[in-house]
Amino acid sequence: MAHAEIHQDRSIDAADLAALSGRTVAVIGFGNQGAAQAANLRDSGHAPVVGNRDDAYAEAAAEEGFDLRSITEASAAGDVVLLLVPDEVQPDLVRDEIAPGLRAGDVLVVASGYNWHFGLLDVPDGVDVVMVAPRMIGAAVRDRYVDRHGFPCFVSVERDATGRAWDTTLAVARAIGGTLGGAIVSSAREETALDLFSEQAVWPAILDVVRTAHRVAIEAGFSEEAVLNELYLSAEPAEVFAHVARDGLFGQLGLHSRTSQYGQLRALTGLDERGELASRFARVMHDDILSGAFAREWSRPEAGERLDALHREVAASPIAAAEAEVRARLGA
Ligand code: NDP
Repeated sequence: MAHAEIHQDRSIDAADLAALSGRTVAVIGFGNQGAAQAANLRDSGHAPVVGNRDDAYAEAAAEEGFDLRSITEASAAGDVVLLLVPDEVQPDLVRDEIAPGLRAGDVLVVASGYNWHFGLLDVPDGVDVVMVAPRMIGAAVRDRYVDRHGFPCFVSVERDATGRAWDTTLAVARAIGGTLGGAIVSSAREETALDLFSEQAVWPAILDVVRTAHRVAIEAGFSEEAVLNELYLSAEPAEVFAHVARDGLFGQLGLHSRTSQYGQLRALTGLDERGELASRFARVMHDDILSGAFAREWSRPEAGERLDALHREVAASPIAAAEAEVRARLGA
């Protein structure tokens, strides 16, 4: 079994946290992660300057009392610069507005490994590059800092130009609340591969299961209202998944009837764990993700149009049409 190192508040030496003292922290982007991490940093005693374009997000940052600057100015002011804009805009923004303000000894902190791993960020020599990647949506990054429940995050040092990059990584993770839940030592490669694997293997399989179940049940003569509520409209699967996280993948089975338990386990143990699904998942991991083929395809200029076309294709599928009708009838 491969195990990762984990750092939690109780195991961190206070001396390790000095890495942020006397340094200016800059948060670039005030969206989902930016607004949450900036607020957590401030409450941890490291009030950041915020860099954002002049629009609604900037207004929100100013209203919340942050020292708001242009992206160029904030990047130049920051010794530790958190890159919290959408992944697809990062390469151009770093090249044009952030990198010119970075000096040797500064630290660029990414919240996702994708662009760094695939070589899309041009960061000046002498600048540390580290990853502090919450496994949590922005709103909950804030809420779980405030209520001290915490959230896990993946951390790594990607380029240690100063020899002090690890201390900065841990201090940033701690300041945003990431060591309350546990900072798991990872890498941009691992974070990226697992993120893409969930997106390209796990979730398509789950969506396909629901789509196929809908088709089979409708063909068996059952109503759209009954089928869609059974499958997901009731939100029962969301409840089950919450219990999976709390009680365990199989630990939560005790919440179901004995008939359900017997039916689920009888069917599951009859499936071939190393069958077609395993081969498909391995192909996605190796041929699409680790090879870089997906990243190359997604970087092409026409990829955005293809995404729009794919949205149109699924919106016209039988389950989407049925869902719209049932929602309208239920007023949901
Ligand atoms: P958002 O989509 O919420 O970011 C919006 C922010 O980016 C706003 O401040 C917006 O400012 C700014 N922005 C958008 N486009 C541009 C542009 N072209 N130029 C300059 N600024 C721009 O991003 P997230 O918070 O979701 O993601 C930030 C990072 O965090 C990403 O690396 C992501 O992978 C990572 N992450 C996200 C998680 C999540 O749950 N959302 C979880 C873990 C990591 P404006 O439009 O006002 O200019």
